This record gives sequence, structure tokens and C-alpha cells, in this order.
Amino acid sequence: MAYCHDDELDENGKLVVPKEVQDAIRTLISWSGDDPKREGLLDTPARVGRAWREYCQGYDDDPAIHLSRTFEEVGGYHELVLLKDIPFHSHCEHHMAPIIGKASIAYMPTDRVVGISKLARVLHGYARRLQVQERLTAEVANCIYNNLQPEGVAVVIEAQHGCMTGRGVRTPGVGMVTSKLLGCFLDDQRSRKEVMSLMGY
Ligand SMILES: [Zn+2]
Repeated sequence: MAYCHDDELDENGKLVVPKEVQDAIRTLISWSGDDPKREGLLDTPARVGRAWREYCQGYDDDPAIHLSRTFEEVGGYHELVLLKDIPFHSHCEHHMAPIIGKASIAYMPTDRVVGISKLARVLHGYARRLQVQERLTAEVANCIYNNLQPEGVAVVIEAQHGCMTGRGVRTPGVGMVTSKLLGCFLDDQRSRKEVMSLMGY
């Protein structure tokens, strides 16, 4: 069950972080080996609480809404639309460690297009949650495919995972690439080659 937020603000306009949330973070600090009563850590629980609400803003977002306003006047343009190398932040659901990467999102319009920034909004709506990269890739592609109903969608995500670079096998610099192709990009080899080469793969 997710927490029910009532988003009270303090006198400085900052989000009030409930005591039990701060206690949980103090426990985690102790468990990690430090003293939560140490001066430098006194305000950390509240800061971490607020930071996590921001990292996970996507839970308050319905990404499909960003695709509800479309333009039908495309001046006879029936070629693919690509937004390339969009930087994003997410967190892995296994370690709550950062995922930092870039996404390229393309679609082949039928009779309508969306404002180009909306594709990035869909990405952030799903990225700002606890994620696995494979699901993030599929959610972005499916959202665009189902709501915009284009001929095809291609999403390629390349990211580094904090849980790989900072712990475990500790291999910085290794990127993971995932892709989800739908419609014409899945069925038609020429369209697929075109979109992948435009994305730089
Ligand atoms: Zn992880």
C-alpha cells in the first residue's frame, strides 16, 4: 500500500516529512554504520524524505495525459519523428539506487502528432518511480502506441545503474541498453534499420 500524502508545508514552505518516515531514515543511517545524532546528519532524514518524493514524482503523474493534445495539421509529413538522447533519472526497484541514462523515442505518425516535449514528459512520468529498465522502456513505448495510435513506436534506453557501478560487481562505465519496438518498427525491417541508425545504433 502506498502512503497517503497530505503534503503539509512548514513555515519555510518546505514539505513536512512525517516522523515515522524520518525515523525510518535514521534507522537506515544507523544500519549503514553512522550515528544519526551526529550534527551533519541531523537534518538528513527530512531532506531524504523530500528528495524521495521528488525522485518519485511520477506516481502523481498520468503519462497518458501528456499525449491527449494532438495536432492533425502535419503538412503531409508522414515520416518518423525522433527525440534523441533525452537525459533522465530513475531509481532501480531492487536497490533504490540511481539509474542515470538517456532515451531515444521515435514514432511514425498516422494523421496526428504531439508537441515534441510531450515525449520527454511521458518518459519522466514513468522514470520518476521505482523501476527496472526493461519495464520503463516498455511502458514508454506502450503509452505512446496506445494513446497516439501511430504506425509504429521505437524506444531505446541506455543507462548506468548505481547498483552496478557503486556496489556488487562495481563496474563503472558499463551501460545497459534496452529497446522496445512496436508496429512498423517491429514488422518492417527497413523502418527498423532507419530508426535505429538515426538513433545512432
Ligand atoms: Zn538495482
